[in-house]
Amino acid sequence: MATWRVAVSGECVASGSCLGIAPAWFARRADGQSYPTSVLIEENAAVLDAAACCPVEAIRLSDAETGEPVELA
Ligand code: SF4
Repeated sequence: MATWRVAVSGECVASGSCLGIAPAWFARRADGQSYPTSVLIEENAAVLDAAACCPVEAIRLSDAETGEPVELA
């Protein structure tokens, strides 16, 4: 199972959708933008779903070993 690196870019528009889809993996800062609760995670379907559903593609997933971007569903 691959380890992923999770990042949320400054493009986040605070829609909250990732918090609804993967509440264990994203939290909200005071300014409303989201951040990953863990930077390194085991590959995870809910996080993949959240990244695919982000309206501004602000969630970046990459393979922690190779740095290759994880293909969004
Ligand atoms: S789904 Fe995207 S825009 Fe919405 S809070 Fe999460 S990272 Fe931000």
